[in-house]
Amino acid sequence: MSFDSQSLRLLGDALKVLEGGFSSLPQCGAVADCAAMAEVLREVASRLHDNYPYHHPFYIGQMLKPPHPVARLAYALAMWINPNNHALDGGRASSAMEKEAVAEIARMFGWKEHLGHLCGGGTMANFEALWVSRQLHPGKGIAVSEQAHYTHARLSAVLRTPLVKVPADGCGRMDPEQLEAVVKSGAIGTVVATLGSTAVGAVDPLPAILKLRERYGFRVHVDAAYGGYFKLAGNLGANAEAAFQRIGEADSIVVDPHKHGLQPYGCGCVLFKNPEVGRIYQHDSPYTYFTSDELHLGEISLECSRPGAAAVGLWATLRLLPLATGGEFARMLEMCREAALDLYDHLQQDRRFAPLFPPELDIVAWAVRSPSARQSTRLARRVFDAAAERDVHLALATLPKAMIEASAPVDVWDDDKITCLRACAMKAEHRQWMPEIVARLGDAADAALGPGK
Ligand SMILES: *Cc1c(COP(=O)(O)O)cnc(C)c1O
Repeated sequence: MSFDSQSLRLLGDALKVLEGGFSSLPQCGAVADCAAMAEVLREVASRLHDNYPYHHPFYIGQMLKPPHPVARLAYALAMWINPNNHALDGGRASSAMEKEAVAEIARMFGWKEHLGHLCGGGTMANFEALWVSRQLHPGKGIAVSEQAHYTHARLSAVLRTPLVKVPADGCGRMDPEQLEAVVKSGAIGTVVATLGSTAVGAVDPLPAILKLRERYGFRVHVDAAYGGYFKLAGNLGANAEAAFQRIGEADSIVVDPHKHGLQPYGCGCVLFKNPEVGRIYQHDSPYTYFTSDELHLGEISLECSRPGAAAVGLWATLRLLPLATGGEFARMLEMCREAALDLYDHLQQDRRFAPLFPPELDIVAWAVRSPSARQSTRLARRVFDAAAERDVHLALATLPKAMIEASAPVDVWDDDKITCLRACAMKAEHRQWMPEIVARLGDAADAALGPGK
């Protein structure tokens, strides 16, 4: 039994409370044709079999996991109303919940004041942050690490802002010396620091970047779409710890509640340290903003219609699991990191594998030891398939020689990159399941590579 259906009972109870708030209205609403819907729903359930088992701890591949049950239920509850957080007219309660939830995320980063809102995801959130940066530094470029999410290159093309890729070091972190060489000319208006890179969870050296800001005066935008919540984890290494300590000194921050925040998709968050950037969004709306003088979220968001339910799900989750260091939610992140460290230790002891470097967050990448780079890539795919046959689902990531060289998995570099195996241990349960996962990975490696140890 791996799907919880017990909690559905709670939805019935909550729905009655919701209905109570509208009880003065006359009865309305046709009863749906349940028989026809039941048939469709069974068909939907069958169609959904064609997925990896994202909910199960054996899925340890991409950044995918199901939402917390309370998020799922609160989101579903809101669907009976379907609020639109574009404007207060579309969702008064859910707009208030969004402001509260976003303020709690801002407080996690040490901000008592901020401007921010939820949006479709990390892409949209980064888009708004880069757009605001461009408005503040017109004609200047954006610098990102070459390991930054590819969305930054696309977004800067959309914004018609030049983008410079700064080389990363052997651990996938932006190299501050290389950054200085780029910003020296004064042509860079914004530096994007990634705290938790998508490929390997690398944390850019924010303290060094902030030091360069003092000298060169660019904006610092932190893309923490994946890593942001690790601000709460008490078991980070020195580099990540130092970066998260100072995250509040950034000018803007992006974090995705739909990645590590236990939310359904469609929940990103952008935050600005200086609320005055709100003037950049200023516009007149002939349609929507007549019901109050209070701030409508649509006035500080590029997207118009947005799911109020996303705010409701997030608000409910934060109510149950507040963003406190030492709290239950923080513990979950710490367990993810422990799981990743366990996996790293195990891989180090298996002579068939070459883990690249200790994980900074909860993502581990490792190459297959082999005579040549191309052969290593082929074997990684074989291990990936063999693990999947044993129900353990990993991911693959193609990484540059510079990040792999130090772990020396190959003798001959007949390619400048290697496809590595990659695992995102982003479920707290991965900690407990790791022995079983590594046992199955061992069997998969026996089948794909021959016996090791
Ligand atoms: C996932 C991710 C993004 C993109 O966010 P989406 O929510 O997928 O749109 C951007 N940056 C980083 C670092 C990410 O991990």
